[in-house]
Amino acid sequence: MKRAFDDPKASGSGPSKPTKKLRQSQSKSNNKASIASSETPWPDHFTSLFKVFKAINTVLAFVSSRKQIATTFPVIRASVEGLLKHPLEISRVAELKALLPDLIKFTYIDKNELLINEKILNRSTRRDNSPEFSLPASSYDDADGHVLILEFVDHLKGKKTRNSGFQYTAPPTLTPAAMKKLVEKRNQQFEQAVNELLLATPETENAIDLIQEASREHIPVSPNCPPKKEDKTFPSPDNRLPMDDIIEEVKEQEWYIDQIVHRRTFDAKNGQIAQLDPSLSEAISEALKSSREITTFYTHQVAAIQAIHREKHVIVSTSTASGKSIIYQVPILQFLERDSSAKAMLVYPTKALAQDQKAALEQLIGACAGLSHIKVATYDGDTPQELRADIRSNCSVIFTNFDMIHASILPNEHVWRTFLKNLKLLAVDELHCYSGLFGSHVSYITRRLRRACTAIGNRRLRFISCTATISNPRQHMQTIFGLEPSEIEVVSEDGAPSGRKDFLVWNPPLVLPEDPRSSRVSSLSEATQLMRFLMKRGVRVILFCKIRKICELAMKTIITELGNEGRHDILERVKPYRGGYSREDRRRIEHEAFSGNLLGIIATNALELGVDIGILDAVIMLGFPMSIASFRQQAGRAGRRAQDSLAVLVADPFPIDTYYVDNPTELFEQVPHHLIVDLDNKMTLESHLQCAAHEMPISLEDKAYFGPLMAEICESRLKRYADGWYHTHPKFLPFPSRFISIRGAQEETYTVIKMSKSGQGEFIIEEIEISRAMFEIYEGGVFMHQGLTYVVKEVNHDRNFAKVFQAEVNYITSPRDFTDVDAKQTLRIRDFTASRAFYGKIDLYVKVFGFFKIRSWPTYSLSSILLTFLICFCRNKAIIDSVDLDTPPWECETTGFWIDVPKALLALMYTKGINPAEAIHSAQHALLNQFALSEDVKTECKAPEKEYRVTESSRKRPARLIFYDAIGKGGGVSAKAFDIVHELLQKASAAIDRCECERGCTNCTQSTMCREANEVGSKLGASIVLKGLLGHELDPDAIPLQEQTVSLPQTIVEASAVRRANDVRIENVTQNAST
Ligand SMILES: [Zn+2]
Ligand SMILES: [Zn+2]
Repeated sequence: MKRAFDDPKASGSGPSKPTKKLRQSQSKSNNKASIASSETPWPDHFTSLFKVFKAINTVLAFVSSRKQIATTFPVIRASVEGLLKHPLEISRVAELKALLPDLIKFTYIDKNELLINEKILNRSTRRDNSPEFSLPASSYDDADGHVLILEFVDHLKGKKTRNSGFQYTAPPTLTPAAMKKLVEKRNQQFEQAVNELLLATPETENAIDLIQEASREHIPVSPNCPPKKEDKTFPSPDNRLPMDDIIEEVKEQEWYIDQIVHRRTFDAKNGQIAQLDPSLSEAISEALKSSREITTFYTHQVAAIQAIHREKHVIVSTSTASGKSIIYQVPILQFLERDSSAKAMLVYPTKALAQDQKAALEQLIGACAGLSHIKVATYDGDTPQELRADIRSNCSVIFTNFDMIHASILPNEHVWRTFLKNLKLLAVDELHCYSGLFGSHVSYITRRLRRACTAIGNRRLRFISCTATISNPRQHMQTIFGLEPSEIEVVSEDGAPSGRKDFLVWNPPLVLPEDPRSSRVSSLSEATQLMRFLMKRGVRVILFCKIRKICELAMKTIITELGNEGRHDILERVKPYRGGYSREDRRRIEHEAFSGNLLGIIATNALELGVDIGILDAVIMLGFPMSIASFRQQAGRAGRRAQDSLAVLVADPFPIDTYYVDNPTELFEQVPHHLIVDLDNKMTLESHLQCAAHEMPISLEDKAYFGPLMAEICESRLKRYADGWYHTHPKFLPFPSRFISIRGAQEETYTVIKMSKSGQGEFIIEEIEISRAMFEIYEGGVFMHQGLTYVVKEVNHDRNFAKVFQAEVNYITSPRDFTDVDAKQTLRIRDFTASRAFYGKIDLYVKVFGFFKIRSWPTYSLSSILLTFLICFCRNKAIIDSVDLDTPPWECETTGFWIDVPKALLALMYTKGINPAEAIHSAQHALLNQFALSEDVKTECKAPEKEYRVTESSRKRPARLIFYDAIGKGGGVSAKAFDIVHELLQKASAAIDRCECERGCTNCTQSTMCREANEVGSKLGASIVLKGLLGHELDPDAIPLQEQTVSLPQTIVEASAVRRANDVRIENVTQNAST
């Protein structure tokens, strides 16, 4: 059939280049209209391409009937994807362009050409609510004012358009009937072009390959890409402009729309210098000078070093980069100088940090006359067994961690005896890292260490710690090391010089500036835009993201945007950094950062305390970090001595961020929460007593270390020998330390394996904890790693791995899950007359039943989507596909407590128009906000996607406040909250009454830990629930009727009773006795 009609080979017209061939086919269309109804069957590829074409055709027809809508590619793409229900790849459009090069215009044009449309757009009074028809800022919109457009150029009556190049022509105005005709005509043109292509394709070639090859030439390139050579430079970070000038420059940008809602400047401060008395030895002074160029000391360094000299324990609470390492290093050198058998241990929260510090100390010791023989070593879980004995006997200083002290050094005290006997100094950096349950474990480990040292005659062990600025440094030091307040010297006067520092609170602008109800531009695109702007000016930036996925999305955005701008020079100096990356990857990135080679780092708070990433000039925080303390810690990462720096908080669209946008001074004035370490947890104490007794038997005098609860536990849980000493209970032998996991239970992990395209070679790119894996790896899902997208091909739940392949996709995926927290068995009951609280076993049930494909670029509030998952996307119609999955549920058991909301209270809420799901969710957070150890307790968060669904769901949740011990944290903490549940309810209720906020804030009903970003909430509802549970009088007439815009189906049902274990006593709260 083909041959019979027109054999291009035979006629000699067969082009060698596909592009030419296609052009030729196209040009034939005018005189060979009759072949439109070809009998050649179409390959599926063209059938599906036709669908894409028809969708674009429809959208463009619609758009051209509304003159106010610009046919920019992002606008067209959104609508086309809405019709197609799957993503529209640029390459597909390029294929169409290759097929119909004269009809389709797909190119960058000068933005000014669009101005006419924009003006009309701004004038129009009646706005279409659909965000599809706004003009989104995007990666198809370059810095130099070009936008990517997609439109049809019809050659009416055979007239050739003169319109080549980048000129934009307004689409013709047509009647609906004429438009319909035009649409049909274009569809015919497509069919004809395909038929011709198929006919023209030689048998030796494949039409699909041809079109795809040809399409590559039609992928649009911004006229500024690659930019002129001279643009491709940026100032060296050492020669950048002052930050003040850069901020002024930001304000001159066209994308600057008053985003800076608050600015606070802290002036530069000169360093305060003091003299050491007694002064240092010649050798140490020389070593500091030659290896570090240090000849003078700041006041805080002097205060700390002298306090150690006076045999005090020291805590230094000053800013980041105030020269804290000198405070550990100088006393170590002094000890070694006085006594070459002296030993020291240094503990850092991360291995990377320990490595950096070890190198620095080795260098210093090496430069110190008379000490160059001294050996320094790392002693951690990675230290090979065969090296350990040598380290014990020959090294003077070891870099280690509490895990090793707990599980390796103390249990083997007999081989460490010489070391411990000569141990002069234990330095613990970043002491604020040790709080909550982990802090309790560490506190007992230091007590065990002190006890062991004392027993072998070492009573002069000193402790020295540095910490970020915290509200209770003395008390924290006292708790962690078990010291008397009078033995501790607190150094908090910071003598280090600091550069001028600017803080900005950045609120993304409204999508529709004239409509205050419209949503805000994505915080993620604002943050990455600002980051690019700063890097181009030679500013070294770190962008902090709250969760891993945002970190990856930000990296992907930066890659795309810098790529589009042709700024590969900057791109190659930006790296993401977060938990989950392989060890090698992390070390490599740390190395690059430390060597000063990086210009930008996108990190989760894994970097907040950990690695010293060298010099940074600016910090951008994408969303308010978990707490005021984190905010200050992150902000403190930028800046060094003489140079000015910048910290920017880019607000997410969440209530907490909004609160700080409205009350920015609180960011600087609010007192951070006290660090809490709980030493009254009998379970934790017992486990360490079992260890301590194995290290050496316990006598009642050890109460000095372990506190008043010790005696009772020893008596009931340890084994008492005839001589009166307590020994480890035999069931924990021979290794009691193995019964404790000080960082919580190690979770099972899934391995993510990258498959190569060729099918040869696979390698591991990540290990993911099971509780996270459920939401991150599912078949068909998009997994992000170092800013690249991978599609999950296979998940093996028996062998815990997932295989992924790299694929450039323009969507991300968001899992759809039910996470049910169900009370399973009651073990304790506390009765407080008006209601009861129950403690017991709780089942967690996570079922990922599908996922949404979500268009990933850019206008929409990506971060809000990811955190609140779906609601924003539903609103913005950015969901392009919904996929069902059949994955096995993940179930696990934990402990926790719950309080049922009585029927009458539920009924009252319904009559007052209060949504019980909102009320219960807010009441849960209000209660947890009053509990000091809330970081280890979780609650069932209510998701907007489920609670605000207009269709009835079969999934109903009981009217119940429920709390449980976080997985992988060791547990036992919710029991402590349960012990004081009545008090927590009272405090929560009082906090709400006291708080002047309107709709709830972090002081009353909201939580930075909320999985669903506090979107479902009601301050009034929480107050009613709490008062009702406390038995307070509620006057229905005094409760204002809440107006609801839509009536939603009920998602909350009355809670039913939970099975009780045998002999559950009822603890009566008011009488404080059991009945
Ligand atoms: Zn409040
Ligand atoms: Zn929540």
